[in-house]
Amino acid sequence: MSICTICPNNCAVDRDKFSGACGVKNDVVIAKYYLHPYEEPCISGKNGSGCVFFAGCSLKCAFCQNYQLSHEARGKIFSVLELAEIFKRLENMGAHNINLVNPTHYTKQIIDALNIYRPNIPIVWNTHGYEKIETLEKINDYVDVYLTDLKYFKPSRSKRYCKKEDYFEVASKAVKFMCDNKELKFCGDLMVKGVVVRHLVLPQNVDESLKILEFLKGVIGEHYLSVMAQYTPFGKLDNLPELTRKITRREYDLVVDKLEELNFERVYLQEMQSSGTNFIPDWDF
Ligand code: SF4
Repeated sequence: MSICTICPNNCAVDRDKFSGACGVKNDVVIAKYYLHPYEEPCISGKNGSGCVFFAGCSLKCAFCQNYQLSHEARGKIFSVLELAEIFKRLENMGAHNINLVNPTHYTKQIIDALNIYRPNIPIVWNTHGYEKIETLEKINDYVDVYLTDLKYFKPSRSKRYCKKEDYFEVASKAVKFMCDNKELKFCGDLMVKGVVVRHLVLPQNVDESLKILEFLKGVIGEHYLSVMAQYTPFGKLDNLPELTRKITRREYDLVVDKLEELNFERVYLQEMQSSGTNFIPDWDF
């Protein structure tokens, strides 16, 4: 029996039989794997990032652009051996890295697959940031690059958008762990070790963005910040009227002004035109 407490939800369910808050059992469900061109330039490079999109999610934001995966667990079941073969296939296709998209609830299976086949390209842990330190300690030796979100600051805001009042309390510690436990290293234009902390600016939430930036200034050190303007209304927003529009130029400029005031060293800034659904992949399974 495997009682799952891998993420801060601490469901303590036997995932051989039941799913917890992440919505999936121990079987690895994948919706797509391919060479993805739309990550930050140091991750996607020329060939693309070898993304594996896992189904299920331990956070489940109401506006998730991958709603069918995160909330509805769309995808096909793969064994751990098949997951290891996917890593090898992506590497042979020319991927610059193996990018594990929303991996937390499959930590054990991913470690097992990496013990079967360890690619000769960096492993990217692409997470929403709602992570236990004990879980990060388990995965840290397998991971080269953390690509993590830091989404919300106030408990009331994270409760409103993902039903978790403790998001910042948990994710801020996780981001600090990631930044403290990786040194930044590039090979040409590609990040081979390090951290990229992403923050998505939400409509009517500039106050949140400013607080997040103030926090990150103190912990990010040599690592990269990626400020994203791509928010597009998606998902179940019936009770969230403020999220039914894109961000405005004025909102984004306020965030960019704060970035300049805080003098971050290494920043990716998205263009406002990045907003839209054309960056969301078609799911294969
Ligand atoms: S990984 Fe899933 S089952 Fe396990 S604690 Fe988190 S939400 Fe619950």
